Order: sequence, then structure tokens, then C-alpha cells
Amino acid sequence: MKEIRMKALAKINLGLDVVKKREDGYHEVRMIMQTVKLYDQIDIHKMDKPGIRLKTNLQYLPVDENNLAYRAARLLIEEFGIPKGVSIRLRKVIPIAAGMAGGSSDAAAVLVGLNRIFQLGLTKQELMERSVKLGADVPYCILRGTALAEGIGEKLTRLPAMPKCHVLIAKPGIHVSTKMVYTNLRADELVSHPDIDGQIAAIRERDLRRAAELMGNVLETVTIPAYPVIGKIKEKMMAYGALGAMMSGSGPTVFGLFEDEEKARYAYEKMRRGSLAKQVYLTRIMNHGGDANDR
Ligand code: ATP
Repeated sequence: MKEIRMKALAKINLGLDVVKKREDGYHEVRMIMQTVKLYDQIDIHKMDKPGIRLKTNLQYLPVDENNLAYRAARLLIEEFGIPKGVSIRLRKVIPIAAGMAGGSSDAAAVLVGLNRIFQLGLTKQELMERSVKLGADVPYCILRGTALAEGIGEKLTRLPAMPKCHVLIAKPGIHVSTKMVYTNLRADELVSHPDIDGQIAAIRERDLRRAAELMGNVLETVTIPAYPVIGKIKEKMMAYGALGAMMSGSGPTVFGLFEDEEKARYAYEKMRRGSLAKQVYLTRIMNHGGDANDR
């Protein structure tokens, strides 16, 4: 095999709780992760000459070791002493710095792709173990589907699949730094926490409405006061008939879950024509297994 085409799928958080701030400064989290069918396309070609060549459709993205896709390739090439090189073409679709794990998912797809084209024989578990060096969300991006993430996000437990639904994604044209959000979070003073266990039970019972009702993200306590547009997008989505609307990760992307396709389409059109969001997508959740050609 000389080349391979991969899909790097985005994630949303159906629930995000911060349990505590650790002494080393990291936050311990409990998050329900969910893959959605919004993806970057990654083409990987083997080259006879050593080296990593990366090209993207976005001029401002780094194409050196500052790009997670590059670092992922380097990790396996170095560990296995692969004498050949790779050329990677990355077509970004997932909003950047948006709380949707775009970079982590690119890294995950590159690891899985290199494992295949160079026939390294690593299992999914072995890839996941290595991938945490690249970022706490990367193991999840290899696992995909519905999962509980604990620790700093790297301790994963697969959950039963989230019931199928439509997902409206809207990113306002603002930049929110993940570091700023966690620095300003008063983890010890949070007055309410999302009911992550209740949400897991709802997912297990395939109760979409209840799972959506229980959505909650403690990081909104930092971002919504600082960036009211996030709260406004949530309100609009609820007004358009979402079963639940919430910020994903550290934001600023907001997503809404819809059972009814027509309502979802209507909300998508309204949101696209409105002025609150710069990037708007309508997609679906994607469960473990997914399409046979999804990687
Ligand atoms: P998370 O949900 O894990 O917090 P995110 O959506 O906030 O991720 P990304 O889109 O992954 O953030 O990228 C954040 C930063 O990382 C960007 O500012 C970008 O310069 C850098 N970066 C490195 N590699 C990539 C990549 N492959 N795709 C996007 N951004 C990348």
C-alpha cells in the first residue's frame, strides 16, 4: 500500500465536569465524549526519501512540528526507525481552536494511517497508549464513539452508543483560549455539577431526551460571562427546538441535539443566515464502528 485516505472525525462533549484541580495544575475531568460526522480529510503517501512533508488548505496552520499531524507521523517514524518518508495532505474542515479536538483527531488519523501503510502491526490499544504523548484527547480520537473520559481526559471507558440524532454545530467568530478557560475556572467553588452518571444511565436506556436534558459543561461558567454570544447561540438553538444545547469542550463552539430532522434543518438555515455564528454545520452523531470506510 503506497497511500491511504483517512477521515479525522470531530468530537463534542455531551457532558463536561471538572472534579478537581490537581496539585500539578492539571484538572481532573469527567466528560462524555461523542464523535460526530464532521471531519478533516487526510491523504498519506509513502515517499522513498526520508522526511515528513505536510500541506494543508489553510495558509495559517503550521506545517512543521507545531502541527499535531506532523508530530504524530514523527512519533511512529522515530520509534520504528522507518527509513522512508511520508507526504501528508490535510484538508481542514473541523473548526480550529473550537473545542472539537480537530488537531487531536488529525493526529489520531495519522497514527492509524501510518500503522496501516507501514504495516507496523500495532493494535488500537497500543496506538492509544502511544498517542497520549501528543495530547490528552488523542487516545479518545483513536477509540471514537461514545465514551467516558476521566483523569485528564485520557482514561477512557466505552459507553453504550448514544441514540441517533442530528447535531447542529455553530462556532462564533471569537477565539477562546483553552488555557484561559481552565485558569479562570474556580473548580472548588462550582455550585452545580452536571449529572454525568444520570446522563450515562439515560444513554444506556436509549433515552435521547433525558440524555439531552442532562447536558452540562462547567466551563460555561467561565466562557458565557466573558463571551455572551455563546449563551445567545444556546438560547437560539433551544428556541429552534433543540432537545439540548451546550458549549463543546472549552468552546467557543456550541452544539444542539435534534431528534427531528426538519427542525434541525430549519435551525441550521436560521443559524446560517443569522449573525451570531461564523461557521455552521449540520451533522449527525457517529457511533463506534460507523461506516466501514470511515478511516
Ligand atoms: P480541543 O477540543 O482538543 O481543545 P481545539 O478544537 O481547541 O482542540 P485545535 O483545533 O485542535 O483546538 O487546535 C488548537 C491549536 O493547535 C490551533 O491554534 C493550531 O494552531 C494548533 N494546531 C496544531 N495542529 C493542528 C491541526 N492539525 N489542526 C488544527 N490546529 C492545529
